[in-house]
Amino acid sequence: MTHIDDHATHQHGKSLQQQQPDSVKALGLPPNTSCLLVQTRTILLEPVPLPLLKPDSVLVRVMANGICGSDMHSYLSGGVGGRPIGAPSVMGHEAAGIVEAVGADVMSHVVGDHVAIEPGLPCRKCVNCKGGRMNICTTIRYCGTPGVHGTLSRFYVLPADMAPKIPKTVPWDVAGSIQPLAIGVQIGKRADLRAHQTVAIFGCGPIGLITAAVAHAYSARRIIAFDIKPSRVEFAKSYKSPLTGKPIIDHVFQIDSLPDVFKHETNGAATNGASLDHTTPGDKAYMVAQERMDAILQEVGLADEGGVDRVIEASGAQDSMLHGVAVCNDGGVYLQVGLGHIQTNIFPTIAVTNKELDVRGITRYTASCFPMAIEMLGRGVVDIAPLITSRFPMSRAKDAFETVAAGNDIKVIIRNQEVE
Ligand SMILES: [Zn+2]
Ligand SMILES: [Zn+2]
Repeated sequence: MTHIDDHATHQHGKSLQQQQPDSVKALGLPPNTSCLLVQTRTILLEPVPLPLLKPDSVLVRVMANGICGSDMHSYLSGGVGGRPIGAPSVMGHEAAGIVEAVGADVMSHVVGDHVAIEPGLPCRKCVNCKGGRMNICTTIRYCGTPGVHGTLSRFYVLPADMAPKIPKTVPWDVAGSIQPLAIGVQIGKRADLRAHQTVAIFGCGPIGLITAAVAHAYSARRIIAFDIKPSRVEFAKSYKSPLTGKPIIDHVFQIDSLPDVFKHETNGAATNGASLDHTTPGDKAYMVAQERMDAILQEVGLADEGGVDRVIEASGAQDSMLHGVAVCNDGGVYLQVGLGHIQTNIFPTIAVTNKELDVRGITRYTASCFPMAIEMLGRGVVDIAPLITSRFPMSRAKDAFETVAAGNDIKVIIRNQEVE
């Protein structure tokens, strides 16, 4: 992994280039042009030093790089992980490419292999790593976060075991979206997706749709999805299964925000004892959400079951969270995937306890997720090609980010080698 502290590797007065193994020097590679975030909505395309190829690592010519919500958060806020960037930092964490050189100790890879890039490097030593949950490593180094260069470069170096091989039949644009598919696999693990379940998904962006594709590949009995944007609803309806040729999602609904119950709150009513109505604004909001979801369940013929088995909240909107808890059946699992504000004002306490829901979170992916995602793609049980709606050369990276910001696309891909 490329670190911003690259200067630390300038040992004995030798430049990085001089320290590279002969196999790398012999390649005569072009400059490592990269996309750096400078400040809000300001990026810079310029070469960064080619990282040193260590004995356990592979040097990858990056072919495609997906853009996702967390990249956009950095791009629009001019910071990463909630912190302003210090030095300009290379963006990107969803990428795939071709092995150009292998370190002296690498037996698993050869030049020419097609690989995905696992963007998180766990420490392997902390309590969470030792407990088998490397995705919540306390000191994980994650591409595009403070101090760690991302994948929006022409070349990238990483430990060979973090570069799972992909079949050469997988197109590059699709390969650049393997990371979100790996997240979809982790969502499946955390939500405990099993055959013959009913699933509701809130948010029809890339992660919501990929989750639908994974649930479908796992033989979900019925998938319902929601989005606030009509264009996303229409797109979700058009997303077809490579297995059946029919839409993956059985019912897609456009859903509006809940009425603003707080607007009508008066301080007097609750304190002067004149009203016996102990209903809080939160209670009212939940009741509206419950009414809406009851109507939906009636419409799709699941009213008898009282709800769906699994709820995936992939929008981060507070109202979706309430709708999600309301549509979850007794004993079901509610998984929070979407990132919104740091906290919401409403937690539907009674519904969560009475229904005995498992309310869970998920972050990133675990060790088996990339291999599973790649295998599912190779076997043709998921198809993410339809989700890729725009492609840009790296020389037009700014246009790519602005296209995502405009909100009319699903997945946007940058082609890292297409630079002047
Ligand atoms: Zn991402
Ligand atoms: Zn760790």
